[in-house]
Order: sequence, then C-alpha cells, then structure tokens
Amino acid sequence: MPGPSDGRRALVTGAASGIGRATCVRLAHDGYAVAGLDLDEAGLAGLDVAHRAVLDVSDAGAVAGAVDTAAEALGGLDVVVAAAGLTGRGTIADTTTDQWQRIMSVNVGGVFLVARAALPHLRRSPAPAIVLVASQLGLVGAAGAAAYCASKGAVLSLARAMAIDHAGDGITVNAVCPGPTDTPMTDLHLAHEADPAAAREQLLGAVPLGRLVDPAEVAGAIAHLADPATRATTGAALVVDGGYVAR
Ligand code: NAD
Repeated sequence: MPGPSDGRRALVTGAASGIGRATCVRLAHDGYAVAGLDLDEAGLAGLDVAHRAVLDVSDAGAVAGAVDTAAEALGGLDVVVAAAGLTGRGTIADTTTDQWQRIMSVNVGGVFLVARAALPHLRRSPAPAIVLVASQLGLVGAAGAAAYCASKGAVLSLARAMAIDHAGDGITVNAVCPGPTDTPMTDLHLAHEADPAAAREQLLGAVPLGRLVDPAEVAGAIAHLADPATRATTGAALVVDGGYVAR
C-alpha cells in the first residue's frame, strides 16, 4: 500500500543505529526512498533501505561524493536528517584537545558538511526539509558533558541560522532535541559510570515521564518536521524528552 510520502527521497546519517536507524525505518514505512549513511559498515548491513553507504560525516573529502551518490541513487533528495553523533564525558578540565575536536568535528562539522553538500539537490525539490538531531543538552547544561553540550548548542544555533539563510530556497531547517533515549549511545554513557544501575535510576529520575524515550518517538518527530504539511515550521527546536527540560 502506498505511504503518505510516496515519491519523496530522504538521506539519513547515523543510519546504522538508534535514532538514525529508527528514522530510516519510519521514513521508509511512510513511503520515502531512503539512503542510510554511517561509519559502521556492519550496522548498516541489516538496514532495508534503497541505498546504503559507509561514510565518516567528518571526512570533508568524502562527504560531497557520498551525498551526490546517494542523491543519484534515489533520483534526488527532498529530506536530509543529520543524526550521526558521538557522546563524550568530561568537564573541560578532563577533556583532551583531541576529544574536544573529535566531538565538534562529528557533531557540528558533520552536520555542516552533509547539509552543505545536500543543498544543490534540495533546491531542486518541491518541498525540501533538513532535520538536525540536536539534544535536550543543547538547551540545558549537564554535569560532566561539556564538549557534548557545546556541540549540541551549536547544532541548535546552526539550525536557526540555516533556516534564515535557506528560506529563500524553500528549505525548512529544524532541530529535534531528544532527551535520554533508549539507544546504544545511552547504554555506552551509563556503562562508563561507576555504578551503571544507580546512574540509570538517577537519569530516569530527571525525566518526568520516568522512562527513556523510544527512538521511534524521535523518528516520529523527525517525520513530522520532514512532512510538506508542516512547512510553516522552520528554525524550530522540537523537544522529545519525556519532559526533561520542562522541570
Ligand atoms: P547511536 O550511538 O545509537 O547512533 C549513532 C550513530 O552515529 C551510530 O550508528 C554511529 O556509527 C554513527 N556515527 C558516529 N560517528 C559517525 C561519523 N563520524 N560518521 C558517520 N556516522 C557516525 O546513538 P543515538 O542515541 O541514536 O544518537 C543519534 C543522535 O541523537 C546523536 O546525534 C546523539 O547525539 C543524539 N541524541 C541522543 C540521545 C540519547 O539519549 N541517546 C539524546 C539526545 C540526542
């Protein structure tokens, strides 16, 4: 049966896992032809989409070619979802320069490179949309995650700037701000704590709904912002956080 977005084409980064993977599944279900890009070749292998490719989004020399190839495979691009990202622990006192630069180059630089490479394709779409995956930690601070918080604040600011710059191209640019979400990134974050079970309880205590966000719920918000019916929304940050920032 045709989906509501039949004929539309979407490129998703971070497609091998978590929120990016759930977004690929949701958009494909809605009728999009989907290109999934990720660093993790093994993770991409089981993803049932029209086009898959291995890409490090921070690799300035590789991004444009990978985006062009994906657009060619799909016959164009209507939607870009930038979900690839890295977490990182530490105050600035215990963050190395290499850690800082890696988080910034993936979480912020990767968004810049992918979105820039996609612009010529999106300009040819009748209803183009970019959705950036930021975080609730772009809106509020958190202990021991300085570089990550800074990177997600930058993504939110970039979404607003791009929304203004590319309104004339008809491109909407929005961000989603997931709260603690049930993905391997959250598992990794908790595993590094001295007492992971206690850290999980503490994390859930910060979420009024008292549970982790399901990646499919974030994918639903992304699908909403990618929908041509919501084109009056641009430059916005949509929280999907179980109430985390409402406290
Ligand atoms: P995840 O670890 O499950 O998925 C992240 C994906 O990004 C992985 O498949 C990984 O291989 C890929 N990736 C990492 N570096 C890459 C690179 N340089 N190039 C290409 N791909 C790369 O994590 P997730 O929770 O699904 O995170 C997705 C996005 O959501 C991230 O931007 C993250 O910061 C954000 N986010 C996550 C949470 C959470 O609680 N999990 C909360 C808020 C925001």
